[in-house]
Amino acid sequence: MADEKHAEEKQAAEKQAGDVQSKAAYTPKIAWSVYKDQETRDKVRSFCDDYIAFLSACKTERETVAKSLEVLQGQGYSNDPASDRYVTTLNGKCLFAFKKGKAPLKNGVRLIIAHTDCPRLDFRPHPFVEQAGYAQAKTHYYGGLLKYQWLARPLALHGVIVKETGETVPICLGEKKGEPVFTIEDLLPHLAKKLPTQTVREAFEAEKLNVILGAKPLDTDEETKVSEPVKTAILDLLLETCNVREEDFISAEIQVVPAGEASYVGLDSSLVGSYGQDDRICVYTALRALTDMNPELDNENCVLILSDREEIGSEGSTGASSRFFEYCLADVVQAHEPETALRHVILASYALSADVTAGLDPDFQDAHEKNNCGRLGYGVCFEKYTGSGGKYGASEAHAEFFAMLRGLMNRRGIPWQATELGKVDCGGGGTVALFLAAWGMNVIDCGPALLCMHSPFELSSVVDIYAAWQAYMAFYEG
Ligand code: MN
Ligand code: MN
Repeated sequence: MADEKHAEEKQAAEKQAGDVQSKAAYTPKIAWSVYKDQETRDKVRSFCDDYIAFLSACKTERETVAKSLEVLQGQGYSNDPASDRYVTTLNGKCLFAFKKGKAPLKNGVRLIIAHTDCPRLDFRPHPFVEQAGYAQAKTHYYGGLLKYQWLARPLALHGVIVKETGETVPICLGEKKGEPVFTIEDLLPHLAKKLPTQTVREAFEAEKLNVILGAKPLDTDEETKVSEPVKTAILDLLLETCNVREEDFISAEIQVVPAGEASYVGLDSSLVGSYGQDDRICVYTALRALTDMNPELDNENCVLILSDREEIGSEGSTGASSRFFEYCLADVVQAHEPETALRHVILASYALSADVTAGLDPDFQDAHEKNNCGRLGYGVCFEKYTGSGGKYGASEAHAEFFAMLRGLMNRRGIPWQATELGKVDCGGGGTVALFLAAWGMNVIDCGPALLCMHSPFELSSVVDIYAAWQAYMAFYEG
């Protein structure tokens, strides 16, 4: 290991000293060398300021869709499929937007799809328990997360409670300044002697992901007996402050998410740290691409899809495997070009599955194959295929489509890299690309690389955020 490291350092030093390379060689460029002038760097900073505000405000799929809808409506999008700017949503959790171009629809659309959901802890239908003098809420985790990362940290509650009358009570607790937060306790190291001999699965159980709601018993006189005095006091408090009862939580969607705002990371503020960057980094950059694109480059018909349920396989009516998005496109074609069959529009279309990938982790470099891994700061990643092992469970972009995109990025001087998720035998993952590929559409994964993906504090690079926005915009502009 030591020798290998030494050789690597030597290699890097040689490269820096002006190592001679073949004219035919290819080395991806660090994005900082592309965004060199101060004016561009100021633009990167200001774009990321807006992104940080978006991340801090949007912590659930409902909040993300509501915010995106508001932005689009502000740009003149309406719910009329016959209009040139059409937007519609389903259950407030996924969104379809269409912007008419000059070209006929039979030439296809330029479609970008990103997902609104993130790994988190959901309240169960019967969340409330009292144990050892603490009122707690039992949770059911959603998506692939490392349970220990959610312990002993400030958490907030976001979501909705829908009463049987149909009235919706929005919930957002633990975010405002001075407001109490929530947490899940962890065992002190002094008593965690068993921990080193346990597997992670044994050590961290889903049944122990219980959120502390309170520890103060109901005030009663000495004669009155209350079997669960803390839980009772908390339920009383919920009735008083939110006007909701225990049964109302059966028809509720309460998500436990990290409390607090997104922020820059590092002395040089070169990184952004936040919950939810997978995949709201792509939601935000794609949304901005659609609203910021050059009005003179208006040939292409542009579609933006924000889908839900990606983290658990895209199942469900609001997930990418839902027919909903196909219906939306059918409505658009019917309204604008009824003589063209939907299938012909789809087959002529190109899509970007806008999702994040893994960046080379400085402390876990062994998980990556360094010739093919993503690196933070090297621009937007294009991933020809995902999947695991022998490319199982993945679609694969065709070489012709990749060539077209590579040309587009190079002509525009947008920093980009071609990546794979990690070492082939280390694991793997998937995106929504396969659902669009199932329509027969040309599709490729494209998005920034992250460190600490699926953790409560994911890291991205400011230059990659900017590059993703530029890449999506270039794709829409054609
Ligand atoms: Mn994702
Ligand atoms: Mn994910």
